Amino acid sequence: MVIAKARAVDGPDKSFRAAEIERRDLDLHDVLIEIKFAGICHSDIHTAHGEWGAVNYPLVPGHEIAGIVTDVGSEVTKYKIGDRVGVGCMVDSCGECENCVKGEEQYCHKGNIPTYAGVDKYGEPTQGGYSSHIVVTEEFVVSIPDNIELDAAAPLLCAGITTFSPLNHWGAGPGKKIAVVGLGGLGHMAVKIAHAMGAEVTVLSQTLKKKEDGLQFGANNYYATSDPETFDKLAGTFDLIINTVSAKIDLNAYLSLLNLDGTMVNVGAPADPLSLNVMSLIGHRRSFAGSLIGGIRETQEMLEFCAEHNIAPEIEVIAADEIDEAYKRVLSSDVKYRFVIDNSTL
Ligand SMILES: [Zn+2]
Ligand SMILES: [Zn+2]
Repeated sequence: MVIAKARAVDGPDKSFRAAEIERRDLDLHDVLIEIKFAGICHSDIHTAHGEWGAVNYPLVPGHEIAGIVTDVGSEVTKYKIGDRVGVGCMVDSCGECENCVKGEEQYCHKGNIPTYAGVDKYGEPTQGGYSSHIVVTEEFVVSIPDNIELDAAAPLLCAGITTFSPLNHWGAGPGKKIAVVGLGGLGHMAVKIAHAMGAEVTVLSQTLKKKEDGLQFGANNYYATSDPETFDKLAGTFDLIINTVSAKIDLNAYLSLLNLDGTMVNVGAPADPLSLNVMSLIGHRRSFAGSLIGGIRETQEMLEFCAEHNIAPEIEVIAADEIDEAYKRVLSSDVKYRFVIDNSTL
């Protein structure tokens, strides 16, 4: 067993504190990873604050994990000591249901095992990446290409795959008009990836404050949704809208921006139900959809794609003592565009 250094939170209103957690002995197919960097995802904040249901505290969040393999189980074949690897939002699944067999483990019929705030197959609570080490079965570990720095790789494991998967699934590419709603951690990755796929990309943001950034990330157009003229001007334009915003929006207004057979995909998850007028769909045979992270095979594909196209998230590296402050800044949209913890400071 390895005793890992960690940062844990003891309740919805508590600050992070230094902690020690146990990582299990290596099973035959397990990999021990020394975590070098861990991204801070908005989901970490929702979970730490108890906003997504009951949490078993103490909680160690973090599902954007990049590090180095330091030990392997006796039957591990995919990795060896010294390999650069990543772990995303899940660490296991049943492996047997039709979705797991298809490589869509995130949609496992029995539920995937989340990297933190879950229960693993040994009945133990899972604890995430704000820690010095983690043990994960090799099937849920991905390889980080050499030309992606480990700090920049971390956010790809959630923000990267969460946006890559729907863009890939709904065929973003040359000749397609894609809108990205919101230019935060997820949105800025969606813009970079959709641009690299060859699509025409439009950012729909509340204001024009981040316009320069958006264009620099590869957007062709940038509009403010606070300006009602935006919705008149862009009516019936897009083949695909990726909504990264987890706040309540006027769904019917956004659906009106889709062209014939267009799809609006939600990757942000608002806590309250949204109101949908079905006429918004019928008029142009439109679809309204959701998408959850991506499977392990697709996550590896996404990393290769980012390596090939030199795509990296915009990051601000922080020390472990700055996690509380970073949470506050994420909540006030004061981040460009992802905080990444330097785990050597735990
Ligand atoms: Zn996440
Ligand atoms: Zn399954």
